Amino acid sequence: MEKWPIGVFASIDAGLGVHLDVVRELGVPTVHLHSPHASSRTPEKISAFKAQLQEYGVTITCVFGGFEGESYADIPTVKTTVGLVPAETRAARTKELKEIADFARQMDVDQVGLHIGFVPHESSDPTYAEILEVTRDVCDHCARLNQTLNLETGQEPAEVLLRFLGDVDRPNLFVNFDPANMILYGCGEPLPALKKLGSYIRSIHCKDATWSAQPGETWGEEVPLGEGDVNFKAYLTTLDEIGYTGPLTIEREIAQEPERQKAEIGGAVALLDRLKSELSG
Ligand code: MG
Repeated sequence: MEKWPIGVFASIDAGLGVHLDVVRELGVPTVHLHSPHASSRTPEKISAFKAQLQEYGVTITCVFGGFEGESYADIPTVKTTVGLVPAETRAARTKELKEIADFARQMDVDQVGLHIGFVPHESSDPTYAEILEVTRDVCDHCARLNQTLNLETGQEPAEVLLRFLGDVDRPNLFVNFDPANMILYGCGEPLPALKKLGSYIRSIHCKDATWSAQPGETWGEEVPLGEGDVNFKAYLTTLDEIGYTGPLTIEREIAQEPERQKAEIGGAVALLDRLKSELSG
């Protein structure tokens, strides 16, 4: 694969990504796919879906786990509803995440992405040890499928995430870096975090955001690429420094406004193409 192919976050029937016809229209060669519902993960649907991707010339580079009942309405709601952290849904979601990894394998995808939820920042918190255990369990399942598990950044500062990765201690555990999430959740400046996480970065999102007036308490605002506080030229320069050559996967989480989403992703593709040629020129 060429260095830094453009990608976009896509959805079939679940998640906030763009639909595949839009991916084709934009001429984007790679996607991160939000896992479809279980009813769309049958052998027949998988065969049909693979044929469609081949026709469109699109490669899935990462399948993202997602679950019924997750809500990103505000930061406190994320803490209680997202990922494997909420205790009451943990066992069922862990089982489903393994099924999603199986689906990814059947789609020939080597990376599984996940918003694991708010890992406690203090390792003395009893939940911390439980999350270590469940993460090892999922990593080991992915390892049997020759897959990496890529944790999405944002809910914790880079130092906390680094300690967590070390404590889980599995060779196939990596990071999906999302610079906008660092800003949205108020978890630190993205580019120093990217440098610290360096060799753990296996996939990334290109998403932009502005800081909240009360970082960590209320959301910052997700905005079109290039209009926020990320600084994409510096972002690509830093990706180059840490040796990242994988896809630049654009995310714009306004699925409720599909026309605007398509137009803004088109603008993001143009911006990234321009920055890529500037940096290689
Ligand atoms: Mg993201």
